[in-house]
Amino acid sequence: MAFFEAIDPTFTSFVMGNAPVKQIASGCDWTEGPVWFGDANCLLFSDIPNNRIMRWIPDVGLSVFRQPSNYANGHTRDREGRLVSCEHGTRRVTRTEADGSITIIADSYEGKRLNSPNDVVVKSDGTIWFSDPHYGIMTNYEGFKSEQELPCTVYRVDPARGTIEAVLTDFNGPNGLAFSPDESRLYVADTGRMFGSDPTHIRVFDCAEDGSLFGGGVFHAIDPGAADGFRLDTDGNVWSSAADGVHCLNPSGALIGKILVPELVSNVCFGGRAKHVLFMTATTSVYSVVLNREGVQRP
Ligand code: MG
Repeated sequence: MAFFEAIDPTFTSFVMGNAPVKQIASGCDWTEGPVWFGDANCLLFSDIPNNRIMRWIPDVGLSVFRQPSNYANGHTRDREGRLVSCEHGTRRVTRTEADGSITIIADSYEGKRLNSPNDVVVKSDGTIWFSDPHYGIMTNYEGFKSEQELPCTVYRVDPARGTIEAVLTDFNGPNGLAFSPDESRLYVADTGRMFGSDPTHIRVFDCAEDGSLFGGGVFHAIDPGAADGFRLDTDGNVWSSAADGVHCLNPSGALIGKILVPELVSNVCFGGRAKHVLFMTATTSVYSVVLNREGVQRP
């Protein structure tokens, strides 16, 4: 079985032809939000419909990390290594402290409840950027069906100043987001009003030193499927979810190759001792593959 499809010859140097795409965990319903903890040698990811966060340890296996998880979706780590999580059920973004206690990062904007925070990234200045589409409150599958109070928006929280700002307001369904290695660019996916409807694409913004954003043109329209979640490698290539696996987009936005995955992929993250392993959450399972690339993984 082929694990890779090269569209541009450069992609063949990004992968190892004999490195398998491995199913490392299964038995979930909709996996999402992978995040690597090198210090704990484990991968955390969400199993959203089953209201739990799972933990996978190499050579040990799978266990439940947190249940209930408040229907957690996307995760990342902040500059101190703490887990930052998007929660559909409680319609908030939280941080898990070193002692295990939970701090609320954001749950409202201008007096109204957030929709269902979906994905999150932390910039080197400590600001926390997250998308807030309405997917998690549309049905009772991945949270609690409830009223939408705010438009679908990307927010920036500055924990040091205690502020929350609506930074991107012209998305139908903002979803995955990530910075380029030097943080001069911010990539944000739009997956539509109904997931996968409308134009689905990744947009790219130029970031000024003060955090303001410019541009916002279409970087790449994923086909087939949608860019639910993605991460970048240290050379600025974008590794994005798609319906047939993971698509690798070069910094110009061209599709140069694919990792073929037998289930619908939702999100990815880099991990392993050299940040050279790509973990892919895909419907009931999580897959991994060793790449000849290094991910932008902070801390
Ligand atoms: Mg997502």
